[in-house]
Amino acid sequence: MKNISLLLFLFSGFLLIHAQSPAEMASAIEKEASENSQLPLLAHELMDVVGPRLVGTPQMKNAHDWAVSTFAKWGISAENEAWGTWRGWERGITHIDMLSPRVVSLSGRQLAWSPGTSSKGITANLITIPALPDSAAYAKWMPAVKGKFVLVSMPQPTGRPDYNWEEFATPESFEKMKADRDAMEDAWNQKIRNTGYNSRTINEALEKAGAAGIVQSRWSSGFGANKIFSAGTKKIPAVDLSLEDYGMLYRLVENGRNPLIKVVAESKELGRVPTFNTIATIPGTEFPDEYIVLSAHFDSWDGGTGATDNGTGTITMMETARILKKLYPNPKRTIIVGLWGSEEQGLNGSRAYVEDHPEVVEGLQALFNQDNGTGRVVNLSGQGFLHAYEYLGRWLEAVPDSITRHIETTFPGNPGRGGSDYASFVAMGAPAFSLSSLSWSYWNYTWHTNLDTSDKIVFDDVRNNVILTAILTYMASEDPVKTSREKAVLSINPRTGEQREWPTPRSPNREGGID
Ligand SMILES: [Zn+2]
Repeated sequence: MKNISLLLFLFSGFLLIHAQSPAEMASAIEKEASENSQLPLLAHELMDVVGPRLVGTPQMKNAHDWAVSTFAKWGISAENEAWGTWRGWERGITHIDMLSPRVVSLSGRQLAWSPGTSSKGITANLITIPALPDSAAYAKWMPAVKGKFVLVSMPQPTGRPDYNWEEFATPESFEKMKADRDAMEDAWNQKIRNTGYNSRTINEALEKAGAAGIVQSRWSSGFGANKIFSAGTKKIPAVDLSLEDYGMLYRLVENGRNPLIKVVAESKELGRVPTFNTIATIPGTEFPDEYIVLSAHFDSWDGGTGATDNGTGTITMMETARILKKLYPNPKRTIIVGLWGSEEQGLNGSRAYVEDHPEVVEGLQALFNQDNGTGRVVNLSGQGFLHAYEYLGRWLEAVPDSITRHIETTFPGNPGRGGSDYASFVAMGAPAFSLSSLSWSYWNYTWHTNLDTSDKIVFDDVRNNVILTAILTYMASEDPVKTSREKAVLSINPRTGEQREWPTPRSPNREGGID
């Protein structure tokens, strides 16, 4: 019995060794990705168990530790590389309830790094910002906010997205709604300008004037979707409410109903904490000093669970590494998975990595980054590298037509200047590429919103991206030649009339969360 298993084992090893023509490897990758996908399990562990991954939170550290142990299970060595520190903060229970004129629990949350409350919370009435002629008038009004929650966002006239109006409204009423909304926005912006502050600095001024807290609602133009970023306060809590509940409170105040709310926001300040990149490595056998980097940022905002920004990019790169380790355990070139910290605050993890690892920048054969949602890859740009067409084109030939037929390529293209972590490498002149996805309503519905949750993941599209990335990586690793990084002559910017220049590297923020 033992001998038979040994024979089978040797035979399967023999098959693997001989599966290495590009076509055979591509179909082995496709088979493994389709028949033994670990994507749903990875998504469950990352989004449901670890949760959102805001820089400086214990959950971010949990995510890094989870990644290292997951890679270890697959026989891939990985480590968490510290590159700086951040303000440590942990979200606790948030409860926002209206107590008068009736009792109802409201839909909202504390904003990142907002000061917290005791478990008893803060109970207070609300105030809106009146329209006054100038900053002197506002200075006089300011004491009125003392002890009150201030409603600082314009109440939206409709919670229906424009596409819904377009479908059902008469053309006249759709036009009228848009015109009314534009006028409201103009008046609101004028009002904020008259205060002498902007929409960001006003929170601090209200805090100084003794407000009990800040209530905002930053609608993302989709049903139920709000953008969730950080608080602009140092001592008082700042919360974001759903469009529906915010609008209700606003109307109650404006109609003299004097609503009373209670906010419990039990966050904790944790001092300075280290911040990391998770780096996994499958060593190369023939050209160990040349690298293919599978790149995705690991951190997220915390309104949802960071499922499409960038949970899907993360699990794409992890699943790709798992499959390659299984089918292609001894790559010619070194394969690195880079799961970057603090992309959301300015590509900090990847900027630190390119500074700390000149050898990887120098030896980079190719980097593939994915970070714009759950969709299948539909765009690939040569990022301004003159010969990218030649090698990317050759690698893409090994990818099944069912995947490449969706992809529009642009060569040589323009170098990326930001937006995601490939730009940190492009700025160094290293061949890094963005696997750019179909939107699936990313910008309104999931990007930095409360709705960026697992239910939005489209696993078929993510699996498509795994197969694409794995085959491109295999081809880049096997390529007999190192990729050219000769830069194209960049085009004229039609806006300025001047020739575009190659982006220059920028330093990371290694001491984050300090004002
Ligand atoms: Zn992102």
